[in-house]
Amino acid sequence: FWAYCLLKFEKELSAQQYNTWIKPLKARVNGDAVQIVAPNKFVMQWVKSKFFSRIEAIATELSTSAVLELIVDSSEQTSTAEPPAKKTPSQSTAETDPKLNSPAASIKSVEKKPIPNRAPVKALRSEKGSGLNDSFLFDNYVTGRANQLARAAAIQVAGNPGQAYNPLFIYGGVGLGKTHLLQAIGNELKKAKPDANIRYLHAERYVSDVVKAYENKAFDEFKQQYHSLDLLLIDDIQFFAKKTRTQEEFFYAFNSLIEEKKQIVITCDTYPKEIADMDERLRTRFSWGLTVAVEPPELEMRVAILRKKAENLKINLHEDVAFFVAKQIRSSVRELEGALNRIIAMANFTGHAIDVHLAKDALRDLIAVRGRQITMENIQKTVADYYKIKVSDMFSKKRSRNVARPRQVAMSLARELTNHSFPEIGEAFGGRHHTTVMHACEEIEQLRLNDQTLARDIGLLTQVIRD
Ligand code: ADP
Ligand code: MG
Repeated sequence: FWAYCLLKFEKELSAQQYNTWIKPLKARVNGDAVQIVAPNKFVMQWVKSKFFSRIEAIATELSTSAVLELIVDSSEQTSTAEPPAKKTPSQSTAETDPKLNSPAASIKSVEKKPIPNRAPVKALRSEKGSGLNDSFLFDNYVTGRANQLARAAAIQVAGNPGQAYNPLFIYGGVGLGKTHLLQAIGNELKKAKPDANIRYLHAERYVSDVVKAYENKAFDEFKQQYHSLDLLLIDDIQFFAKKTRTQEEFFYAFNSLIEEKKQIVITCDTYPKEIADMDERLRTRFSWGLTVAVEPPELEMRVAILRKKAENLKINLHEDVAFFVAKQIRSSVRELEGALNRIIAMANFTGHAIDVHLAKDALRDLIAVRGRQITMENIQKTVADYYKIKVSDMFSKKRSRNVARPRQVAMSLARELTNHSFPEIGEAFGGRHHTTVMHACEEIEQLRLNDQTLARDIGLLTQVIRD
């Protein structure tokens, strides 16, 4: 579990963040708890407020049933700060005196330390088997164009399990909110029907359950477990690739649940037809219900997410800072969270207020990389190529639709993908007035809501320009 956490964090955080906060942590098993040991209380406090919920989420993803504890390395403690109960944290003491090392005891001992303004360390034990984590809700899921369909479908399914769409298949890139939505469905149904039999699990966990059932010759029990569910939430199903035995088992579970009108919700990194090394029968079945995408959040949504996260952390994030960050960080919600954490860390270290200047400093290395890549020239050229018009048409006064529309698309991409202001964009597009640019952006924004082709064009162009 911890090795997996480290891998995830290494991928998700900047090297600096990772080295400062995550690398110094050690993990050890204590009874049925996993203790994450910080070298000092400062690191512990920081990890708790910034990363612990992520660690919990990873635990949930893996359906780890262990209780998670975050503690300070007792050898680093001054003798007065640490109660004697924590003096013998060797792994064997768990057996000799379980009470001494019970999760409650160690959490309490952490809590006693005089650190001001802290919420209690939350111990996570996913309720027997459900795998749900109650911090992922519809209420704290920010909506925008990128995810409104997926969210609406998820709400429908949570309200009418087995009746609306079955299965619901949600796909999209890393860090875009798939797991959050999946969990929200479970939490919502649980709220409405506390007795419903719900199970969230990561596909990897399902694979290992199959292996275990196989080794223990306990397939009947295994089947029983899944076939009696009201709601099965299965995350990152691309992990079934090449696991033929798992796929076979899942095929039966799937059929039996659907037949009984029990709800299945699946997430994946691609849409059903594209999943590699997956049984054709499963691929077909995955698209029986409804398939919806979560896309990278657009600018306004990124701003909204930053403000919401800041609000939750009780941090005052000025609109211009939110905008600045949202313009820099474009690919995923998780990255946005990381950027915000970095800014907060920087503010804490330096004691300065959070403003654009500080944000720029905190995100310097990210900005350097991206700033170089995307220019207005590049956008104009790419869009012109795509629509097979001349680059010079981007600056020309021509108003025929076949050039005016691509020009508008290019302007709105310039707004989304670069840090240039409306007047600067107008300037780059043949000296147009900034209101023309604003109008173009609004118009494209509106059009793409209903025009699937345009939406797809813009999606493709965005990818090409970013790469
Ligand atoms: P995925 O499963 O698609 O990789 P996650 O669901 O794990 O992504 O989301 C990554 C992080 O971003 C999580 O902390 C999640 O709570 C947060 N997040 C994602 N989408 C949203 C959203 N629309 N509003 C608020 N938070 C979000
Ligand atoms: Mg996920």
